[in-house]
Amino acid sequence: MFKAIRIDKAEKGTTAALVQFDEADLMEGDVTVRVEWSTLNYKDGLAVTGKAPVVRRFPMIAGIDFAGTVEQSSHPRWKAGDRVICNGWGLGETHLGAYAEKARVKGDWLVALPDGISARDAMAIGTAGYTAMLAVLALEHHGLAPSQGPVVVTGAAGGVGSVAISILSKLGYHVIASTGRVSEAGYLRDLGAAEVIDRNELSGAAKPLAKERWAGGVDSVGSTTLANLLSMTSYRGAIAACGLAAGMDLPTSVAPFILRGVCLLGIDSVMCPIGLREIAWKRLGTDLEAGKLSEITHEIGLNGVIEAGARILAGQVRGRIVVKIS
Ligand code: NDP
Repeated sequence: MFKAIRIDKAEKGTTAALVQFDEADLMEGDVTVRVEWSTLNYKDGLAVTGKAPVVRRFPMIAGIDFAGTVEQSSHPRWKAGDRVICNGWGLGETHLGAYAEKARVKGDWLVALPDGISARDAMAIGTAGYTAMLAVLALEHHGLAPSQGPVVVTGAAGGVGSVAISILSKLGYHVIASTGRVSEAGYLRDLGAAEVIDRNELSGAAKPLAKERWAGGVDSVGSTTLANLLSMTSYRGAIAACGLAAGMDLPTSVAPFILRGVCLLGIDSVMCPIGLREIAWKRLGTDLEAGKLSEITHEIGLNGVIEAGARILAGQVRGRIVVKIS
């Protein structure tokens, strides 16, 4: 038996509780991992509070990412003692997840913990940070460079936003951070933001085209915010869209695309191919300052996850939360 946060179906919605879980009930997989650290992402908040139907199999162990040590493996790439990271692939949604002392997964889902990154640091980065890196990689692939002008980051004080600011500023970009918490301006400037703007500037209905303000951006908010970002992107710029903190809709027009050649780059971390994951984790090892990472990270135990899940949905979490599992 081991400790786990289990989600069960209830008459109305779902319930979440810290319980003892039987190892015999773990799902199929060719690698068993002793989970050491996990983290709390927006999606985890949705799962543990039941606010959105993230969980699609019951009972479920919540948690979409973990770092730990391989205990047993019949997969050719992994052996006992290997240090690994797993995130996405349906973990915590369709496959028993990360908020548990043990996990059994497919070896094909695992990435080796990069040199110089501890298991705790990997989860301080977590799915949010790795998604921020995927967004930066997409912008680079598009051809964006610091010389082309400023970049905007929305949901700036959140997990994706905080890591995106740190990476982009280290790469030499002039970063404009958009936040609803202007009281966090000092924190955002410490991360590397050159300017901090109130998110209200970007939350109203978007014009088809507005004054060009940035060459690129990372958006974790969606809805009218993403529409405004697009309408304010300069000629041949690009916005990487990864989130929906304000909504799933996108009330925009084709004007930015057909009149300014703006590109909208979609970012999905869950089914991202393993090769790109490895590149992203490697780049996180070099492009994110360890000092900045520890500044944005808070630690909780498994017993704090359900309460913190409600706080992340209320937009009250600054930066990243790591969960100490064992
Ligand atoms: P956080 O909760 O840490 O950050 C989200 C931030 O968005 C908040 O901190 C807040 O920033 C801002 N925000 C919240 N509500 C609103 C609102 N109503 N209007 C405008 N801004 C708002 O979450 P994460 O950083 O972990 O995730 C961010 C988004 O990215 C989520 O939607 C998540 O589901 C998505 N995501 C997608 C992934 C993918 O694979 N595509 C992977 C990981 C995350 P501030 O206070 O600074 O305004």
